[in-house]
Amino acid sequence: MTAELTAQVCVVGGGPAGLALAVELAKRSVSVVVLEQSGHFNRSFRGESVSPDSVWLLDRLGLLDRLDGTYEQMHHMEIIDSGSTVLSVDFSDFPYPHPYPVELPQPALLSALADVGREHPGFTLRQSATAVGLLRERGDSGPVTGVRARTPDGELVVRAALTVAADGRFSKVREMSGLPYEKQPLDRDVIWLRLPIPQEWDSNTYRIRIRGGEHGLFIPTHPDSVRVGLNIPKGGLKDLRAKGLGALHERLDRLAPELSATVRKEVKSWSDTSMLDIFTTVVPNWSMPGLILMGDAAHTLTPILGQGVNHAIIDAVTLAPLVEEAMAQNTTAALVRAGETFQRTREEAVRLSRALQLRQERLFALDGRLGGLARRSLYRVVDRNRTLQQKVLARAYFQVQEPGTTVARRVTREPARPS
Ligand SMILES: Cc1cc2nc3c(=O)[nH]c(=O)nc-3n(C[C@H](O)[C@H](O)[C@H](O)COP(=O)(O)OP(=O)(O)OC[C@H]3O[C@@H](n4cnc5c(N)ncnc54)[C@H](O)[C@@H]3O)c2cc1C
Repeated sequence: MTAELTAQVCVVGGGPAGLALAVELAKRSVSVVVLEQSGHFNRSFRGESVSPDSVWLLDRLGLLDRLDGTYEQMHHMEIIDSGSTVLSVDFSDFPYPHPYPVELPQPALLSALADVGREHPGFTLRQSATAVGLLRERGDSGPVTGVRARTPDGELVVRAALTVAADGRFSKVREMSGLPYEKQPLDRDVIWLRLPIPQEWDSNTYRIRIRGGEHGLFIPTHPDSVRVGLNIPKGGLKDLRAKGLGALHERLDRLAPELSATVRKEVKSWSDTSMLDIFTTVVPNWSMPGLILMGDAAHTLTPILGQGVNHAIIDAVTLAPLVEEAMAQNTTAALVRAGETFQRTREEAVRLSRALQLRQERLFALDGRLGGLARRSLYRVVDRNRTLQQKVLARAYFQVQEPGTTVARRVTREPARPS
């Protein structure tokens, strides 16, 4: 049997982008149905690094207080290349209201967003509902008018004036819409694992370790662990697995001997790891009549500097008022304009983040004596020049906040100290 729902907006995907948009729409009295294929919010190794700009936005949206106790504020970033510290960044130097990125597990963020959404009558979240088809006027060629979804109880049809694809990096809705896109694979993939944080590390520092062509990201993870991301050549998982887990352990030994004992205790099978296929996606048109793409579906980024969640949230707060205004006009043309304005407003910021990430990827990839020397020299130049540090990081971290806030007004939490 087919069940039917009608709303002004149908959002496919209850990740950070989709839920933040749905909450912002519901607050504006725009009725919204969110379809999420998963039955729960438990997800690991997914977008836990949240940029200062998004922390600021979450604060303004009244979510930061609700999230208190679920996240860790990051105060420093340090890059150690071939055993020497080549870059040390102190985020408290940045003159913004929220200068610190935070590590916030997605289950906490998504649950908080869903809780806020449920406080508004126009908000409906359907979990275990997978979008499998688009409804369109005039067969396959007309405007999108809603979504067909598969649920444990049978088919669900959602009719909506606007459908928003917030269904992530492998967006099925983008695929079904026929909107063209270009997937750009990067030269490496990342294998992730999670370990208890070593005693000698504080939990407020991002650590990046590089040795030759190998590098690792060590990201403190609330409440007491560290996510470790190790680069492997593109498609190199099969080769690594063929060498056995010992090869993975030894790789970590070379970058972070502090973790040698722990990794042998905690990572006993490949199922204790998770592989991230690194690519970016460029979508020339983020919308078509009746449909708008947002978040990873519109612009997949790499994990560098936690930009995915950041852009997802900024997308949501940008798009919601545009949709509200278009709904008030109640015409297809107004919704089309909203989609176009949304893309125009957001794509330059996304482009800047992508360019910064790609530059960083290239630096990581430099190998050999000369390559390593060039990379270390570059990091040291940035290390010595605070203005340059701010300029470089501002492209990723401070696109939304206004600079100039005094330290006294800043929101700072006491760092956790190693016990
Ligand atoms: C291993 C890994 C590590 C990452 N680390 C970071 C990080 O530290 N910081 C950071 O900022 N970003 C990180 N990212 C990227 C980040 O997770 C994404 O950029 C961010 O979650 C994008 O939000 P989104 O809502 O657009 O998409 P997603 O978070 O991917 O959410 C999409 C949602 O759509 C649902 N969905 C998919 N298909 C359908 C369908 N057909 N019907 C219904 N629902 C559907 C999915 O279940 C999911 O809940 C990481 C990504 C991965 C994979």
